[in-house]
Amino acid sequence: MLQIVEHPCVKHELAVLRNRETTVRMFRDAMNRISFFLLAEALKTLAVKTAPIETPLAATQGHQLADRVMFVPVLRAGLGFLSTAQLLVPDATVGFIGIKRDEETAAPITYYKNIPPVNDATTVFVLDPMLATGGSLCEALSILKQAGAKKCVLVTLLAAPEGVACVERAHPEVAIYTAACDEKLTANYFIYPGLGDAGDRIFGTL
Ligand code: URA
Repeated sequence: MLQIVEHPCVKHELAVLRNRETTVRMFRDAMNRISFFLLAEALKTLAVKTAPIETPLAATQGHQLADRVMFVPVLRAGLGFLSTAQLLVPDATVGFIGIKRDEETAAPITYYKNIPPVNDATTVFVLDPMLATGGSLCEALSILKQAGAKKCVLVTLLAAPEGVACVERAHPEVAIYTAACDEKLTANYFIYPGLGDAGDRIFGTL
């Protein structure tokens, strides 16, 4: 279910994001632009229904989204996707899941969750730039399924093979959209060659 989004602009922006010389402001701007292409591709999974409309000239059929859309950024780096996501689907609800990882074991620790009502018609787009070990995202998907989510889609910027395997094992029905799948994880669970700590680069923390 891994979908690498092949687009010249995605490749270009990814190189900007990977570059260590990219400033916080440039990083955030590139993140907003690449989010557009990644989300646009992931949103193709939504169903539409026909609905009558009247143009200035005639009555005809138009379309509406048939699914309810929810975006769930995984705190905090997932927030980097949120402004573009809300621009693309302004009526979407937004839930939040805060997961940090134990620095030694990389085991996920959930410290916050606030999820709006979900029903069978809701498609949940889970937003997290880095699919590294997959521990946090598998945990986020389990939390969302417990809340009633039937259809989840993962939107990331970079994935590691270990993270993809983890999600495919625990949540095989979940499609993963990403700009690239990198070589490996380092000993301290960073994606290699990657782009560093996505949260730090979006927010300028160290
Ligand atoms: N989270 C990050 O921000 N970067 C990585 O390389 C892995 C996890």
